[in-house]
Amino acid sequence: MNLSSGAILILSGPSGAGKSSLITKIIDHIGPSYFSISTTTRPMRAGEVNGTHYHFVSEEEFKYEIENEMFLEYAFVHGNYYGTSLVPVKKALKEGKLVIFDIDVQGHDAVKNRLGDITTSVFTTTPTLHELKRRLHNRSTDSEEVITRRIDMAKREVQRIGEYDYLVVNDNLDEASEILISIAKSARMKIPTLQINEFIQQWEANA
Ligand code: ADP
Ligand code: 5GP
Repeated sequence: MNLSSGAILILSGPSGAGKSSLITKIIDHIGPSYFSISTTTRPMRAGEVNGTHYHFVSEEEFKYEIENEMFLEYAFVHGNYYGTSLVPVKKALKEGKLVIFDIDVQGHDAVKNRLGDITTSVFTTTPTLHELKRRLHNRSTDSEEVITRRIDMAKREVQRIGEYDYLVVNDNLDEASEILISIAKSARMKIPTLQINEFIQQWEANA
């Protein structure tokens, strides 16, 4: 019986919580998956690669993609646009992959509204606000002004933890990765509404 189809795993949380680190650690341990590379207008950080971490575009290019309805969702975060392109996500879902999104709370809202029955969501954060500040400073990729903005945003984002299926506190990276691997494997098992009838029909046909 072939009921394999794709599913979505959303990872949200404050910038600096460790989302990228977690995704890098789990990606080879969760079966066929596709990391959705977002498009953004924010400047590239040291060490980032265009087309790997993000598609870095101008505001003009981003607005063209909005007008042509090329995004599954997009949002204005920390003064920059971020968006998820629709075409690669559709393709990966069709191929039965687990599509992983690193998107903010607004993006989570939008994806849940459109594709809620195949979506599992995880909010991740540091054990404390103090640790978040420490990581953002240690990462040394953002100016003081940007860090202050990200911390203010983080305080607002954590208020929305209750909208997510799971909370993963990223204290020890190895332990948090193990938990996320379990969640990712279960996310694949979520049955889309449309497939329930198909399953029942096939189950009964094999009397
Ligand atoms: P995000 O993608 O959420 O913005 P990053 O993955 O870039 O966060 O992590 C922010 C910083 O914190 C990086 O310097 C990373 O190496 C570090 N980091 C990530 N997870 C942990 C952890 N569990 N303990 C300590 N430092 C961590
Ligand atoms: P950063 O600049 O630290 O890479 O990301 C800033 C925030 O934007 C993070 O909360 C990240 O999850 C979010 N983000 C990244 N890509 C997207 C996207 O395509 N859509 C939305 N809504 N948020 C995104």
